[in-house]
Amino acid sequence: MLPSKPIESLRLDGGLFCLDFVNTVYNRKRPNGYDYLDNFKSLIAWYGHTKLLPQKMLHTLERLGKDYPQKAVVVLEKSLQLRELLHQLFQTVLHAKMPAAIIGSQFNSFLSEAYSNLELSILPDGGKLQFNTPALEQLYWWPTKSAVELLTSDQLKQLKECPACGWLFIDKSKNQSRKWCSMATCGDVNKVTSNYQRTKRKKK
Ligand SMILES: [Zn+2]
Repeated sequence: MLPSKPIESLRLDGGLFCLDFVNTVYNRKRPNGYDYLDNFKSLIAWYGHTKLLPQKMLHTLERLGKDYPQKAVVVLEKSLQLRELLHQLFQTVLHAKMPAAIIGSQFNSFLSEAYSNLELSILPDGGKLQFNTPALEQLYWWPTKSAVELLTSDQLKQLKECPACGWLFIDKSKNQSRKWCSMATCGDVNKVTSNYQRTKRKKK
């Protein structure tokens, strides 16, 4: 078994919630990538790490998970199913292909469930569509909503995949030149490797 890695160490390089959700597997280019969401507790911890939900709601969901452990298992399974579905969907976008009908229909069932639970909240800074029901299903409704927003926006053109680790991210750089999920990790490894190869070539 792989040693467990703290969720707090997971980088949020995707630029969007749904991409960070897909990036909870590291590294996707390797056959045995590490899955940060290996149980319900880690799913809750990941939400805490992203700060998407207010603490109060997070505590409610944590308590619900303890009170209804079987439901928590189902919600985790559905969340992981959605994550892999999103990974496949984004791959089709990256390779300019049409998604297989089964992927489309599976995603649409996530979409209709999530959107039937959306509510308009009027907040001091304006209206916001959100899930207010204290339901464990929120845990896969939020990534669904974030993915729909990306898939239907112009930002989709900025979707990229890190060639080293397979993480997905939105390239917000001015000239669309971002290549790596992060310069501090994959970009740095690449720099070191290419410097090493250059020196090796010079020595020959
Ligand atoms: Zn990377």
